Amino acid sequence: MAVSECPECTFHIQLEEGVEVGQVINCPDCGALIKLVREFPPVFELAGEKE
Ligand SMILES: [Zn+2]
Repeated sequence: MAVSECPECTFHIQLEEGVEVGQVINCPDCGALIKLVREFPPVFELAGEKE
């Protein structure tokens, strides 16, 4: 199972199946809005602010 780190709190997030690049989720630990920007390996970046 793919695991990535929250960029805010470094919590290890387990990626659910079907999560796609560009999808925004909430970190289960700190609640930050994070976006998956790469799939292999999975990388999240903060997606809190909209331009
Ligand atoms: Zn977090």
